[in-house]
Amino acid sequence: MPFPRSWRHHRVAIEVLLTALTLSACSGGPTDTKPPVVPPPVVPVAYVPGQAYLGRNGYVEYIAGNAPVILTAPHGGSLTPSSIPDRTASACGGSATTVTDANTQELVRTMQARYAARFGKYPHVVISHLSRRKLDPNRLQPEAGCGNAEAATALGEWHSYIDVAKSAVLKAHGKGWYMDMHGHGHAVPRLELGYLLSAAALDGTDAALDASSALENSASILTLSLASPLSFSALLRGPTSLGTLYAGLGFPSIPSSSDPRPSGTDYFNGGDNTRRHSCSSSASPLGGITGGMICGVQIEANFAGVRDNAANRERFADATAQVLEQYLRVHWGLLLAP
Ligand SMILES: [Zn+2]
Repeated sequence: MPFPRSWRHHRVAIEVLLTALTLSACSGGPTDTKPPVVPPPVVPVAYVPGQAYLGRNGYVEYIAGNAPVILTAPHGGSLTPSSIPDRTASACGGSATTVTDANTQELVRTMQARYAARFGKYPHVVISHLSRRKLDPNRLQPEAGCGNAEAATALGEWHSYIDVAKSAVLKAHGKGWYMDMHGHGHAVPRLELGYLLSAAALDGTDAALDASSALENSASILTLSLASPLSFSALLRGPTSLGTLYAGLGFPSIPSSSDPRPSGTDYFNGGDNTRRHSCSSSASPLGGITGGMICGVQIEANFAGVRDNAANRERFADATAQVLEQYLRVHWGLLLAP
C-alpha cells in the first residue's frame, strides 16, 4: 500500500534536509573529530498541530504548529545521560558554556498556549531536553556536541525539526517569524533582542545604521526590512519596533526607543540558531536561506517578571502574541489574527 502523500512529502523533506546537514557537517572543523553522519529522525505519518513528537531518547521535542511563528528553547534542558560526556572548553573548543536558561522550556510552551488561545493556531515549538552540559544546540560543531555521536544525533534532529517547521510555515503562509528564546543573568532587567548586530553597531546613530546596506544585510530581519517602507533603524528602535512594542506592554527591551543603545552594558546580539534559521547574510552558509521568507530574532529574557513563575510567563506570552500580531502585520503584511 502506498504511503499517504503527506508522509512522502515529509520523508522527502527530511532526506533533503539531512543531505544538507551531512554536507554542512563535513565542511570545516578538525578532521580527527569528524562528526558522525546523522541518521534521520523518526518521521511520523503527519504532524498534528499541538501534538508533541520526540526524537531519539527524547532528547529533542517538536510540538507541531500551524501558525507562521516558530519558537525554540535550546538551553532549558535538564537531561544528563552518562553516555554523553560533559562538554568542556578544552575538549570541545570555544567557551563550552554550560549554564541553563531556567524556565525557558516552560516559557515557550506557555507562549504557544497563549498564542493559540488568542489566534486559534499553534506556533511551532522545538525544545532541547538535554542539559547544556551535554549539548549546546546554539553552537556549531565541535563546540555544540564535542564529537559525541548521541549529541550529534540530537543536534541533527534539533535542526531537522526546525527545518520541518520552516517548511510547513512557508507552505501554509509564504513567510514566517522565528524566535530563539534564552535567559540572561545580566544586571539590567530587560529583554535583549538579538538581531545579529554588534553592540558597537547599535551604539551608532540612526544615520549610521541606515547609511549603508552592510548592517541591514547582516541583520536577522533583512527580508522584512527590505519589504518595509520604514528605515532600518526605525525597525530596530523606532516607535513600532519590536522592542518599543514590548516596552509598551511592560517589558523593557533593548533596542527600543527608550533604550536604543547598549552603551557598554551587557548585551547578547544573537547566536548560531538565529544566524542559521532567520534571513540574514549568515543564513545560507549555515544551511539556511539568506534573504529568505523567514526572519526572526533571538530574545534573551531577564528572569524576574518574565520567566520566574507561571503568572509572569503567561503575562509575557500574552504580550508576545499582541506584539507579534502588530509588528508582523504592520511591517511585513503577515497576519496572525484570523
Ligand atoms: Zn541561552
